[in-house]
Amino acid sequence: MTTIRAIRGMNDILPDETDRWQYLERTVAEVLASYGYGEIRMPIVEQTALFRRSIGEVTDIVEKEMYSFDDRNGESLTLRPEGTAGCVRAAIQNSLLGTVQRLWYSGPMFRYERPQKGRQRQFHQIGAEVFGVPTPDIDAELILMTARLWRALGIDEHVELQLNSIGSSADRQAFRAALVSYLSEHQADLDEDSQRRLLTNPLRILDSKHPGTRALLQQAPVLTDYLDGESKADFARVCELLDAASVSYVVNPSLVRGLDYYNKTVFEWVTDRLGAQGTVCAGGRYDGLVQQLGGKPVPGIGFAMGKERLVLLLEALEALPAALPAADVYVVNSGGRAEIAAFAALESLRSALPGLRIVQHTGGGSFRSQLKKADKSGARWALIWGDDEVAAATVTVKPLREQGEAQATLPLADVAAFLLRSRTPDTTTEGS
Ligand code: ATP
Ligand code: MG
Repeated sequence: MTTIRAIRGMNDILPDETDRWQYLERTVAEVLASYGYGEIRMPIVEQTALFRRSIGEVTDIVEKEMYSFDDRNGESLTLRPEGTAGCVRAAIQNSLLGTVQRLWYSGPMFRYERPQKGRQRQFHQIGAEVFGVPTPDIDAELILMTARLWRALGIDEHVELQLNSIGSSADRQAFRAALVSYLSEHQADLDEDSQRRLLTNPLRILDSKHPGTRALLQQAPVLTDYLDGESKADFARVCELLDAASVSYVVNPSLVRGLDYYNKTVFEWVTDRLGAQGTVCAGGRYDGLVQQLGGKPVPGIGFAMGKERLVLLLEALEALPAALPAADVYVVNSGGRAEIAAFAALESLRSALPGLRIVQHTGGGSFRSQLKKADKSGARWALIWGDDEVAAATVTVKPLREQGEAQATLPLADVAAFLLRSRTPDTTTEGS
């Protein structure tokens, strides 16, 4: 029989990796909370129409990347390819938009892409969205928050902020006309994808990685020259606020983002350590989206970061905290009455010392083989229950790591205090 394997591009994340993921998630959650953002959890499946209407019909995502299917009722559903659309839908549906909302979410997203390092079909994002603030102070806040996050993670030296304004939709219409007229004169030199985009979504051509197309774009009209007064002023203010906070950035006039709903400020954090998958966080303003999805005309702005890419970057930069062993304490017993005594004592120990990782040997075996497992577990101590210990209501504590520390047999009542005493110096003297 052939064995069943996971779907291509959808990976298992194993325990030694989840430690890293949890570190990332914890750090991000702490930073977001420190700016007053509240967590929202949306469903993973939404009506297909939600994404068609928000992301845009002629985007890569909607054209060729969505996992869509009909449910048993014949309704077209889609595994969410991103979080903003669902977040906006939830904010409208739950009447959240009467006041300013600062929200964040975390979870899996699905896109049918060619799997490679840093690009999966099920991938994971942490995103933030703010509703109800039209002014550029919030653009700066969101960017400062991400900058703080990179510092908290120790990767700030290796990510660069790219910034642009794509103006209003009227600005982009005027620019689009100029761009199409320029590129049409050189149509034959465009790559096939861009030739098609010329008719459907010409702004996306600015994103092309094709060398010939890139060369043509050198002489093309620049979106920045088409911005109206308000877009220009807002962009200048974002830059001013970032300068004042000493956050450096590169203005990249060809940064347009791949989704249709953006306007004004767009940004990406990029690293050169992950090859072609170098964007670790991307976002921008989307003032028309709430209304477009049936809500009031409430402005919005947000970003999303890719957890796979951030974990890869943390690994590449060796910026991860030391991995913890699977156990602090490994418990060995000689079976029969000793096993019963150990079970009871361990339950009290776990209550007395929450956070201590106590792994009990299961499945029997000789003391020798159990102690081998204890050593392999990385635990600092083995707790040993034999017949003598049971008879005397004691337990033997065997240090597994520290050289020169002696093995001791203690009254059961003293074990918690002993472990606490021996554990404390490790955590409190660090860095002193
Ligand atoms: P890319 O240009 O790399 O395809 P994107 O513009 O499609 O990215 P967004 O929709 O802006 O990506 O998503 C925000 C972030 O989510 C990206 O910057 C990236 O870190 C991450 N991301 C997007 N698609 C994937 C994927 N297929 N696998 C892993 N991470 C992804
Ligand atoms: Mg993409």
